[in-house]
Amino acid sequence: MSISEAGPAQVDVAIVGAGMAGTTLAILLGRAGRKVALIDPHRVHHEEFRAEKIGMDQMLLFEKLGLDATLKRLVTSTTDTHVFRLGQFFAHEKKAEFTFSYGALINGLRDALPAQVPLTVGKVTEVSTGPDRQRLVLADGTVIDARLLVVATGHGEAVRRAVGVERIEQSKAHSLSMGFDLAISPSDFGHQSVTCYSRRAADRIAYISIFPLGDKMRANMFLYRNVAEPWTRAFRQEPQKMLCELMPEIAVRCGNFEVASPVEVRQISLSTTQGHRRDGVIFIGDAFCTTCPTPGVGIGRVMTDVDQLHSVHIPRWLETPGMAADKINAFYDDPVKVAADEDGMRVSYYAKSITADTGLEWRVRRLRNNTARQLMIIGRKVRHLGQRRAPVANMR
Ligand SMILES: Cc1cc2nc3c(=O)[nH]c(=O)nc-3n(C[C@H](O)[C@H](O)[C@H](O)COP(=O)(O)OP(=O)(O)OC[C@H]3O[C@@H](n4cnc5c(N)ncnc54)[C@H](O)[C@@H]3O)c2cc1C
Repeated sequence: MSISEAGPAQVDVAIVGAGMAGTTLAILLGRAGRKVALIDPHRVHHEEFRAEKIGMDQMLLFEKLGLDATLKRLVTSTTDTHVFRLGQFFAHEKKAEFTFSYGALINGLRDALPAQVPLTVGKVTEVSTGPDRQRLVLADGTVIDARLLVVATGHGEAVRRAVGVERIEQSKAHSLSMGFDLAISPSDFGHQSVTCYSRRAADRIAYISIFPLGDKMRANMFLYRNVAEPWTRAFRQEPQKMLCELMPEIAVRCGNFEVASPVEVRQISLSTTQGHRRDGVIFIGDAFCTTCPTPGVGIGRVMTDVDQLHSVHIPRWLETPGMAADKINAFYDDPVKVAADEDGMRVSYYAKSITADTGLEWRVRRLRNNTARQLMIIGRKVRHLGQRRAPVANMR
């Protein structure tokens, strides 16, 4: 199908937004033989600070969808993380993780689009939706006529507004995410990856994660502060000095935190959607709901939407005529989707409270958790000492 041909292009599904959700859904529907139009204003997804790491749970979702081979070509694999808590070494976790730069990942996924699903570069200027057909007009006059419209525009508001669907902020300026490169090389770094939790609740830092990304070491820090507050401005100006003070326990391993790039900062709000139960159109991924990056569940939530739509709902919807709200609602009421969204919200609030909430309940919880952790650290040190003394004892 060529959308540049005269007359409206007729497709089964029009997807607006070629980020993680839109591109993966287009690949899957294209592979299943559906007629799909995928529209985005940019041919090349620009470099931006977004998700840079997923775990095995999320990779298993890509594997289930047959996208893991594509993904694995675009990521750096790690197997080993040293965890620091309470200012001390806490645990050596052997777990698979996959790191990437978001723009390169999306562009790599776009390269995997089947030949019959080209990316249409254009701006949507008009949208009309209904119980049978959906109509999109692009800025260059191209008209696309679809049975189903999927809105996967992430934080973009233009199409959401054109459809008349509202974003509801559940927790404004909920957290801050920071990303920067370290000057040290992966081979000189003390460990493969490091996660270091903050020692003091007053710092309002959840943790810093340092990991290899290609041939460099990358740092992601998640905290509960505002982008405009003096602390944040000071950190951007002097990240090395402040990190050496905040996390001296890992400073030496990190080349004393010499930073090799500007500190990218993103303020994160939690949001949901209102007025979305309507004929012909569905909102997915961050266009439907945004959670906090701290617990690292965003990509899992996005891919759950894609999986349920591709495996369960869209094949059913296309079997019978019409695309009225009763069909669409089955997706929003899907228990698997609902659980993924609710879980994402729940862990977003929990991560903030357990890190920085000064209420009595959360202070008690932190004390309990940290006491248990301190005992584990002491236990490990005692065992380690015992192992070192054992040969001497045996000689007596
Ligand atoms: C700083 C940060 C760190 C994060 N870290 C993690 C993490 O560690 N782990 C994790 O799991 N998740 C993380 N996330 C969340 C994760 O990145 C998102 O949930 C996920 O990328 C959302 O994918 P999406 O496809 O919904 O949106 P996007 O990937 O943003 O795609 C939206 C697409 O829509 C296009 N678009 C916008 N407007 C229009 C329009 N009008 N017409 C056509 N197209 C349009 C855009 O060009 C873009 O291509 C993080 C998020 C942030 C902000």
